[in-house]
Amino acid sequence: MEKTLIINSGSSSLKFKLFSLPTEAVLASGLIDRIGIEDSSVTIKFAGEKFHKSLPIKDHKVAVDLLLKLLVELDLVTALDEITAVGHRVVAGGEYFDHSVIIDETVIEKIAELSELARLHNPANLLGIEVFKEQLPNALAIASFDTAYHHTMPAKNYLYSVPYEWYEKYGVRRYGAHGISHEYVARQTAALLKRPLAELKLITCHLGAGSSLCAIKDGHSFDTTMGFTPLTGVTMATRSGDVDAELVMYMMKKLKLTDPDEIVSLLTRKSGLLGISGLSSDMRDILAAKDQGEARAALAITLFVKNIVRYIGQYYVEMQGLDALTFTAGIGENSPIIRQLICDELAFMGVKLAPKANESGGEAVLSTPDSTIKVLCVPTDEELMILREIELIKLDPTRGKFEL
Ligand code: ADP
Repeated sequence: MEKTLIINSGSSSLKFKLFSLPTEAVLASGLIDRIGIEDSSVTIKFAGEKFHKSLPIKDHKVAVDLLLKLLVELDLVTALDEITAVGHRVVAGGEYFDHSVIIDETVIEKIAELSELARLHNPANLLGIEVFKEQLPNALAIASFDTAYHHTMPAKNYLYSVPYEWYEKYGVRRYGAHGISHEYVARQTAALLKRPLAELKLITCHLGAGSSLCAIKDGHSFDTTMGFTPLTGVTMATRSGDVDAELVMYMMKKLKLTDPDEIVSLLTRKSGLLGISGLSSDMRDILAAKDQGEARAALAITLFVKNIVRYIGQYYVEMQGLDALTFTAGIGENSPIIRQLICDELAFMGVKLAPKANESGGEAVLSTPDSTIKVLCVPTDEELMILREIELIKLDPTRGKFEL
């Protein structure tokens, strides 16, 4: 049986999903966690069972060896050559990649070159790519980029108002992120509404640990909240979202920091919901703390909601209308209260949630029939999206060609 492995390789973790073809059934999914640090472990879920083991995993090579060994031992593949394709999620594709590509030496070079735009992610993605290339040399290897979907944004939405040479010489522009998720969710939204995607004006809200919104018009990404890097846009778990560039210099002086990486790290790891609440980066904890009367938890939620609503307003005007608003990812899929708080701010526009549907969530329309704008929940499935890209490339390899 032909099988495809989809990999999301992080700096200290490796997530995977194993699909069977042509059914697209998920045979197994899992996580190798804390690679290169203490307490590493592997978890594999398959056929209603769960395999979990804690053991030292010193680097990505050991992690991939272990995963492939376990897939055979757990009878998820009979031999490794059953895995005919491996899809890798890559965070930054810069201006080079506007579609998924077959990985070759030039692609690897370009992903490495783009590490400046995603300093944590791209090097980790590359580690995964290189180890799988060694271990499964005959499998088709594809890279799918988080930024690729946003290549259709017009210049007025991707340019910053800075010297134009910064864009020309240094690639300073809005690249966005979460594109694989936004594209999947947009397609599912159109399918649920039984309308052609190209006719719809949509806003997809990917609200997880990292959060971004995407305005989708004429079937394509038109604008998005993340920018040059995934630090900007709305309030996130530990990331600040939009801030004034001047405050970077100001706080470096106040905190007596000499290394710019230190202030970026504070904006990336100590800000957002965690920074405002002072309690936690996890929305579940913050909602619970708010219920306990913690004022700063309530403030963190207010800021989170306000920043999202601000962009919904902006995109509504930019697109000159809105047919549907779709929630996805950890918070978007699982928190009826956050969906409610956001939609309450839009009630003046005639947006109405059906309380029962909102409470149930799942892949569904959550608004009342008379709501002026449809509100939906669509659980994201980035791995399935990558799998489908691979299937298309297998049918027509020219689709996966990368040319400079
Ligand atoms: P990532 O961006 O890392 O992929 P996820 O999309 O999995 O993250 O989202 C993770 C976040 O989702 C958690 O940090 C948590 O705040 C939030 N979350 C998960 N379940 C719930 C829930 N029931 N209510 C509120 N927030 C939730």
